[in-house]
Amino acid sequence: MRKAARAPIDESIEEPIKLTDSDVIVVGAGFAGATIARELAERGGQKVSIIERRSHIGGNAYDCLDDRGVLIHAYGPHIYHTNSERVHEFLSRFTEWNGYNHKVLADIHDKLVPVPFNLNSIQACFPPELAKAYRQALLAAFPLGSKVGILELMEKPEPLLRELATYVYENVFLHYTMKQWGLKPDAIDPAVTARVPVLVDYDDRYFQDTYQGLPTAGYTPLFEAMLDHPGISVHKDVDAREVLSLDNEADFWGHEWVNEIFVNNRPYDGRIIYTGALDELCGWYYGLLPYRSLDFSYRQYNQKHVQPVGTINYTVSQDYTRTTEYSWLTCQDIDVTTVAEEYPRAFNDPASQIPYYPVIAHDNQLAYQRYLDLFADLPKFHLLGRLAEYRYYNMDQIVERALLLADQLLG
Ligand code: FAD
Ligand code: UDP
Repeated sequence: MRKAARAPIDESIEEPIKLTDSDVIVVGAGFAGATIARELAERGGQKVSIIERRSHIGGNAYDCLDDRGVLIHAYGPHIYHTNSERVHEFLSRFTEWNGYNHKVLADIHDKLVPVPFNLNSIQACFPPELAKAYRQALLAAFPLGSKVGILELMEKPEPLLRELATYVYENVFLHYTMKQWGLKPDAIDPAVTARVPVLVDYDDRYFQDTYQGLPTAGYTPLFEAMLDHPGISVHKDVDAREVLSLDNEADFWGHEWVNEIFVNNRPYDGRIIYTGALDELCGWYYGLLPYRSLDFSYRQYNQKHVQPVGTINYTVSQDYTRTTEYSWLTCQDIDVTTVAEEYPRAFNDPASQIPYYPVIAHDNQLAYQRYLDLFADLPKFHLLGRLAEYRYYNMDQIVERALLLADQLLG
């Protein structure tokens, strides 16, 4: 852990960035940081300082124009979808929505098949008689509209369902999951593959949520609007590790905890809301938590569209998991197009890689808990967000958690 400086502080030396006069310091300007900052500034009248180590706001949802004017998502494709009225109402204050409904096709040996695998996918994969038998078997077992995790479907005793489940497992989940996680579907938390269930329906959309789309002008303008409040100041290109120092203690038995967090080497009585990776904040004191990273490779074309839908998942071939053509998502009307290929990577070098996905598994949660326990005695230190909480949250879930934390802090 980065120990706090114990030497007396010379108050005549000014803070490089004035932070200790804030009521709240928020680390990170993604959905977690921006939402809690807005809420505490607006509803709570608090003075909020955000520090963000990137040179832009928006976290992993940040978007920008590429060198040919195509709006891309710099950290991978982000499609907003939610069933939460509250989240949607909150975000809709800062943007309009373009009404996009995400569609994904799996490339299964050069045949393009709707994903989530559904009743239309059956039609696309099998001869008519067999397709009919599979459809009937599914509809006899589950009501129309049901969503069934692939691992759950694999356990069904009916021979036709088992056959179908094995096909879907092998052709949709196995190789994609091996690429994405380096593990077989049965070796990761079932909730991960259940995010993309088998859908007993004819609905070809990737998400069935009530509200879905992308911000009409993009995510970055949404963030600009959210952070445009007199109570909020944003300091970009500032790494929390240069600002925060943890003062840790140990008892006779070797139990350790963080006693205090200094800001610019000064005592700080306000709240700190941290949305980055917890193991990193602690200098990887107990080792690196498992994450997966990604590399993106871009292809540019001189035509309006090259894919039939926004995303193609390569479920039996290629090193990349999926390709996304951004203009489908953004509804940008432009005569050139950009497609991103996503290459999953093991995460082993925090200096050069981004920890995109926490790897959800029992042992990893225990390792995270060890870090979490270090902060048990700090009531004004809060962990919020996908990295800080080490959970596989979507954007809307993060916004919801930030709204709930604001409720709690503002009484
Ligand atoms: P982030 O967006 O990661 O923001 C954290 C911020 O903290 C970053 O800006 C980071 O630079 C900053 N930070 C970290 N450490 C420090 C530090 N030490 N000092 C200063 N700043 C720091 N969700 C959906 O709902 N729909 C999707 O389609 C979707 N697609 C996704 C695709 C990919 C490839 C990935 C990886 C995620 C996707 N998500 C999607 C999830 C979504 O990205 C997250 O839910 C959301 O970004 C989490 O917001 P956050 O604020 O917790 O984290
Ligand atoms: N998945 C798969 N094949 C697919 C789509 C998803 O095996 O065609 C599995 C894979 O393990 C993936 C998980 O389901 O990591 C969740 O997929 P999702 O599209 O939600 O992933 P994200 O968009 O978060 O990367």
